Amino acid sequence: MDREKIYVTRSSMPPMEEYFDEIKELWDTHWLTNMGRKHEEFRAQLKDYLEVENVELFTNGHMALELLIQAFEFPEGSEVITTPFTFASTTHAIVRNRLKPVFCDINTIDYTIDVTKIEELITDNTVAILPVHVYGNVCNVEAIDDIAKRYNLKVIYDAAHAFGVKYKGVGICNYGDASMLSFHATKVFNTIEGGAVCYKDKELGKKLYSLKNFGIVDEEHVTSVGANAKMNEFCAAMGICNLRHIDSVIAKRKEVSRFYDDALRDVDGIMTRAEQKDVIANYSYYPILVDKKIYGSNRDDIYEMLLRNCIVTRKYFYPLTSDMECYKMVSYNATLENASNVVKQVLTLPIYEELDLTIVDSICKMLINNAN
Ligand SMILES: *Cc1c(COP(=O)(O)O)cnc(C)c1O
Repeated sequence: MDREKIYVTRSSMPPMEEYFDEIKELWDTHWLTNMGRKHEEFRAQLKDYLEVENVELFTNGHMALELLIQAFEFPEGSEVITTPFTFASTTHAIVRNRLKPVFCDINTIDYTIDVTKIEELITDNTVAILPVHVYGNVCNVEAIDDIAKRYNLKVIYDAAHAFGVKYKGVGICNYGDASMLSFHATKVFNTIEGGAVCYKDKELGKKLYSLKNFGIVDEEHVTSVGANAKMNEFCAAMGICNLRHIDSVIAKRKEVSRFYDDALRDVDGIMTRAEQKDVIANYSYYPILVDKKIYGSNRDDIYEMLLRNCIVTRKYFYPLTSDMECYKMVSYNATLENASNVVKQVLTLPIYEELDLTIVDSICKMLINNAN
């Protein structure tokens, strides 16, 4: 079969002329990076769109998270309670700050951190909770907030998947002390590469601004060991263009998601995505869970079967970060029972703006015909 491959995602791009229009003035100003005009324009637009108090832009989501954690200046070796069911970046950002990740199990409804298991992991060394709004599913922000208040912990959200998501009418990045967003090409909203931190505390903002620019505070003063993680003007211009179209991008993804819901809901052994109450979703991923005992074949068989038919799915997020080679030395006490089960059963199906519903239909038929 020489059909073109269908990947799990495809980057949204604005009409080419729109982008050219946006970058044209860069040939007049020759100001290419270091918080130029496009950077500031994009930042203001994002703040409005996300309905947050403050936004700082970064070269990518990972550096945004890593420098955000650094900005809190936690004592070396402090413990951060987090989820292993995430992209490597989340755990890396903790460990690269010389802090200890303390893995907590996830719940089996929306795969976010299991809030009933956080408290038993808190010790005198715990400084923060770092949950992930995985697949754009909203964590139990109220319970997390309550625990954090009672134990005086910081809450830092990895909101890489949650661009534009709202909970109870409030932009999701308003919860916790700060939230990181990723604008990587594979995410719902992209700036080619890019990221941001949404935060409330202005002092934290000053640190973030300095940390992404080598720790420089002014021409003669460098007060912290910063990195280089600034967003450049071309990426900011891409953000300005893509932001104009984001609502229709999400609407198209919603159509795809609904199609999968309707076609797969009654397939025995396949669990589809559950709608969350009070949440305006962004449909950033379409995960299914495959129960081999009922469906007949397992997740890996389905992955291979679809691949033979030119459908490239992903086992996000397999393996758990706690099982990655680089984290073999990190001990943990929690059982991670749910995470260990989900990670073996989960498969994310193609979902993106331009994905034709006839292809979605054929993917569903393959899954239905393959069942017991
Ligand atoms: C994509 C992603 C990141 C990292 O973002 P980049 O912009 O790719 O650096 C971090 N956490 C999660 C959960 C992600 O999916």
